[in-house]
Amino acid sequence: MTQAFDIVIVGAGMVGAALATGLGREGLSVAVIDRAAAPAYHPESAPDIRVSALSVGSERYLDSLGAWARILAMRATPYRRLAVWDEAAHPLTRLVPRRLTEVTFDARDLSAPHLGYIVENAITQQALWQTAEAEPGVSILAGSGVADVTQDHDQATIRLDDGQTLKARLVIGADGAQSRIRDLAGIGVNRDQYGQQAMVVSVRYRGAVEDITWQGFYPSGPRAFLPLHSAGGAFPGESWASLVWYDAPEQLARLKSLDNEALMAEIQRAFPADLPMLTHIDARASFPIARQHAKHYCSGRVVLAGDAAHTINPLAGQGVNLGFQDARCLQTMIREASRAGGDPADSRWLARYEQERRPANRRMMLTMDLFYHLFSNRIPPVHLLRNLGLGTARALPFARNRVARYAMGIDDQLPAVLKQLAERLPGLGQL
Ligand SMILES: Cc1cc2nc3c(=O)[nH]c(=O)nc-3n(C[C@H](O)[C@H](O)[C@H](O)COP(=O)(O)OP(=O)(O)OC[C@H]3O[C@@H](n4cnc5c(N)ncnc54)[C@H](O)[C@@H]3O)c2cc1C
Repeated sequence: MTQAFDIVIVGAGMVGAALATGLGREGLSVAVIDRAAAPAYHPESAPDIRVSALSVGSERYLDSLGAWARILAMRATPYRRLAVWDEAAHPLTRLVPRRLTEVTFDARDLSAPHLGYIVENAITQQALWQTAEAEPGVSILAGSGVADVTQDHDQATIRLDDGQTLKARLVIGADGAQSRIRDLAGIGVNRDQYGQQAMVVSVRYRGAVEDITWQGFYPSGPRAFLPLHSAGGAFPGESWASLVWYDAPEQLARLKSLDNEALMAEIQRAFPADLPMLTHIDARASFPIARQHAKHYCSGRVVLAGDAAHTINPLAGQGVNLGFQDARCLQTMIREASRAGGDPADSRWLARYEQERRPANRRMMLTMDLFYHLFSNRIPPVHLLRNLGLGTARALPFARNRVARYAMGIDDQLPAVLKQLAERLPGLGQL
C-alpha cells in the first residue's frame, strides 16, 4: 500500500528529527525515515562517542521544539569558559609567553549563564525523536533506507529498501554528508578533503565536572578537551570527557591501533598540560574531515538541510548548529509556501531558503578555513602573526566578545575584519 504525506524527511538524525517536530507542529503530515534503529539511552551508560557543542542559539531552538527539557533530563554539560591557544614550538614563540597567545571567553563577561552545552549526539537525537513522536501528524519509519526517489509535476515517490512506497509533495534530504537523496536528485557537491582527520576518545578523568572547554593548536592540528557529566557512584570522584585529536591520517591510524594503556600514555605526552589526570579510555573513533557544499540546496520537489547540504571543519564545533539554523529557516519557508498556495515545494520559497542559508553556511565554512590555514603550518611569519593576532584579540574585549557572540549563535554577523580575511583565502571561489 502506498502512503501519502505532505512531506517525507529522509534521515532522522538531529536535523531531520528537529524538522519533523517543527513541521508536525505546523499541522503538516510528515513521514521521517531513517535506516538506523531508534537511538537508545541509559542513565548509567558510558557516553556516546559522538558529542557536539551546542550554541545558545541551538539551545533556544531546541527549547522552542520542546526538546531542551528532555535533553537536560537525560545528560548535558554546560561550559562557562572556552580557551584557545597556540601550542606550536618555534623559536619566535619562546619570546611570547602562552598567556599572551591564549584567548579565554568567559560567560560572565557576556552576562550569560553559560557559553553553550556539550551534549551527546544520541541524546539530542533521542529527545527530538520523542518530540516528533508526540506530534499526531508525524510518523517515524526506522530501520529502512531509501532506494529511489522520482518526481513528477505534482508529487515525489519514495521507494524504501523494504519495498514500501511513499508519496509526498516535498522530500527533505537530511541524510548526512553522504546524502543519497542529494545524489538521487542529481545535485552535485564541491568537496575538499583536509590534510587532517579527527580522532575522538571518550575518557574518564580524576576530578569534578569541569566548566571549561579548551583547544590547543599544534601545527599538525588542534587537540581539544570537552567536559562531560560526572561518572557517578560507580566511579566516585571521576568525570567523563571527550578528547579530540586532529592529525595526519597516518598518525591517527597508528594511534588507533594502540591498546588503551599505550594510547593513554600517548595522550598524556601529547596533550597540553591542562589535561586532567585520565583514569580510563572507554572508546575511540576517527572521522575524515572535509569541506563540502552542495551546488544547489533544492531541485524540483527535493530540498537539502544539515550535513546533506554542507559539512565544515569541526574544529570550532559548528556543524549541527548550522544544521539547526537551516531547519528553522526551512520550516518558516515551508509554512509560508503552504499558506500562500498550498504547495510546500513552491520553488519561490525554496529559493528564498537557499538565498538565506547558503551565504551564512559559506561564511562559517570560510571562517573555519581561516583558522585551519592560520594554525596548520610552520611558517614563521604566519606563526608570529597569529600569536600577535591572538594576543590582540585577548587585549580587545569588544572584538573578542563579538567573535564569541557569533560562535554562540547570539549574533549572526561575523566581525567585518574576519569576514574580509576569510574571503581572501585561496581556492574558495566555487563555494
Ligand atoms: C569529530 C566531529 C566533531 C563534531 N563536533 C561538533 C560540535 O561540537 N558541534 C556541532 O555543531 N557540530 C559538530 N560536528 C558536526 C555534526 O556532527 C554534524 O553537523 C551533524 O551530525 C549533522 O547532523 P545531520 O542530522 O545533518 O546528519 P547526520 O548526523 O549525519 O544524520 C543523518 C541521518 O540520516 C540517516 N541516513 C543516512 N542515509 C540514509 C538513507 N539512505 N536512508 C535513510 N536514512 C539515512 C542516518 O542514519 C542518520 O541518522 C562534529 C563532527 C565531527 C566529525
